Amino acid sequence: MSLDGAVERREDPPAGNGNGNGAVAVVVAPPTGRPTYGDRRLRLNPNTEHKPERYDDLETEFDPSIFSSLERHLPPTMLEVPRDAKIQFMKEILARYLPEGERTRVQRHKEYRQKIMSAYLPLHSDLYNMEPTTFFMPSFIKAINDNTEESFRSIISEPSPGVYTFAMLQPNFCELLLEEVENFEKWVNAVKFKIMRPNTMNKYGAVLDDFGLEPMLSKLMEEFICPMSKVFFPEVGGSTLDSHHGFVVEYGKDKDLELGFHVDDSEITLNVCLGKQFSGGELFFRGVRCDKHVNSDTQPEEILDYSHVPGQAILHRGRHRHGARATTSGHRINLLLWCRSSVFREMKKYQKDFSSWCGECQRERKERQRHSVAATKLAFLRSGGSII
Ligand SMILES: [Zn+2]
Repeated sequence: MSLDGAVERREDPPAGNGNGNGAVAVVVAPPTGRPTYGDRRLRLNPNTEHKPERYDDLETEFDPSIFSSLERHLPPTMLEVPRDAKIQFMKEILARYLPEGERTRVQRHKEYRQKIMSAYLPLHSDLYNMEPTTFFMPSFIKAINDNTEESFRSIISEPSPGVYTFAMLQPNFCELLLEEVENFEKWVNAVKFKIMRPNTMNKYGAVLDDFGLEPMLSKLMEEFICPMSKVFFPEVGGSTLDSHHGFVVEYGKDKDLELGFHVDDSEITLNVCLGKQFSGGELFFRGVRCDKHVNSDTQPEEILDYSHVPGQAILHRGRHRHGARATTSGHRINLLLWCRSSVFREMKKYQKDFSSWCGECQRERKERQRHSVAATKLAFLRSGGSII
């Protein structure tokens, strides 16, 4: 596989994922004729002392938690206005992410999901409720319960900056989940239901959120991934994750063989190998990049190749460029949880420098600093000074 080509962006399929975050990367101006608040900018850092209102009663295509997260970023003057005005303001912001056509697709996808849920009979109902002691390795549960950077570091390896791996899922859980996915695929074929591709690059696999696993995966993100992402990825929205896209991908003969070089449509990606027997399929990483620098060169220290081990998780920024080499024999199935932050995405629009996480922005910044130091030294020497 060539790394010279452009980096692709792996997104949800056009239908969106039903939680209002499908293809949000397309930023569109708000429809005309409606009030806009474009001149009132959001706070860059959340007001952590402000206690946001609850928005559970709102019937919109967005998850109510998005409104609560966004409220902490409202300009100070907006915090005093009536709840309705706040809702209107935030809806305007969120609407920029979802043009009308996309909204219809999201609605259709919601109906698609409801149809599946009303007809599909789960094989292992135990999977649908979070049960940490049967899902996770005891070491993982302990680290999360202790909830300190030290406890997380005691179970993880960091083979390259920003890539964390740790033993996470119990073998029995992996097996049950594989059986459930297989059962769902069989059912889909039997009833001739259309199956949605997990994203724009993978042809094989299934969206777990589509057949009832969404609440369990929400808990997984909130209670088990957020504690770690707050510590390791605060600069890319790791402390404000508020939605997810959960799916499995399948590689091997008659499935996808490999996956090209790309970035994910996520802030944080959790990738766990579920099995089965396979060889090949290594993940390769090539540095974190912002939109502008996504095709810039890789520095030698950014190169990492990682071999999957069933049950073992890998956690990285969505903007960490990566791909998967060919699975040369057997079948490999991985669980993916794309974790997203609506607040981070909104903030990003006002920023130009991403040197807190983009390797190339960092390099450019250092270069600028080097130039300015050199220029200062030169000016100093020219003015008659001397450097010892
Ligand atoms: Zn950059």
